[in-house]
Amino acid sequence: MNCPHHCEIYKFKPRSYKDLPVRLAEFGTVYRYEQSGELHGLTRVRGFTQDDAHIFCRPDQVKDEFVKVVDLVLYVLKALKFDDFTAQISLRDPDNKDKYIGSDENWAKAEAAIIEAVAERDIKTVTEYGEAAFYGPKLDFMVKDALGRSWQLGTVQVDYNLPERFELEYVGSDNAKHTPVMIHRAPFGSMERFVAVLLEHCAGKFPLWLTPDQVAILPVSEKYNEYAKKLSGLLKNYDLRALVDERNEKVGKKIRDTEVNKIPYMLIVGEKEVESGQLSVRKQGDGDIGSYSIEDFAKMIQEDIEADLKMN
Ligand code: ZN
Repeated sequence: MNCPHHCEIYKFKPRSYKDLPVRLAEFGTVYRYEQSGELHGLTRVRGFTQDDAHIFCRPDQVKDEFVKVVDLVLYVLKALKFDDFTAQISLRDPDNKDKYIGSDENWAKAEAAIIEAVAERDIKTVTEYGEAAFYGPKLDFMVKDALGRSWQLGTVQVDYNLPERFELEYVGSDNAKHTPVMIHRAPFGSMERFVAVLLEHCAGKFPLWLTPDQVAILPVSEKYNEYAKKLSGLLKNYDLRALVDERNEKVGKKIRDTEVNKIPYMLIVGEKEVESGQLSVRKQGDGDIGSYSIEDFAKMIQEDIEADLKMN
């Protein structure tokens, strides 16, 4: 865990109420000794990378900071087309309080902060008792993969306890010393697990902005390979990633292979296209969608991407 280490960074100099929130983020490697029978692909590994961050804030900032983090998680889920998710409010087991550190008062405040913040956003939630971390309650984002299995990805936690344990302080407007509140957040959770679940979820068909090859350029014969390569260079100027299928194959086979490889757009290049300078465009799943100038084609893709990444 990077939590103690971020606490030490916070602590290395005095902080004033005006300095808060202090937000520290890193991709940190963490280790967990999973039993060999529990190791599973990229979803359960012994060394993994957390997109870990800690926000140190004043008590009056907790709700706003928490809502901002929820928005960040929602943005990540939208950008990767995880539409079916549940936010699980993970609270302490009221009958088994010994498992957790900290006072009842701190727990009540932290749990209330999560419940209030979640109410600000229109998301599907469930409440689970006994699922909190030992130092505080959590909001866990559970997503379903293509096989209907549920996975925990992002997590956000409100913590009044570790700052007390690490004796973190800030000087308030009253000139007295106060303890900050800590928010732990990892929108992706483990990067390894996230990638595994993403692959399952989209069955290899990545969102357009993410897919390694957005466009396949398919010359109808080897005669047009050079022109196709020139096109790929031009598309690069529009930040589009294109490959050229230079194989000596019939164009029908190239189209079928591109469909199987789930490349979103295809450009067919033959005599007509070289002469007119227009692009003959096919869209994966839709077939022929007509001819476009390079500018219009690039604009169409850029608009598709913007729509996918825009929050309502
Ligand atoms: Zn943490």
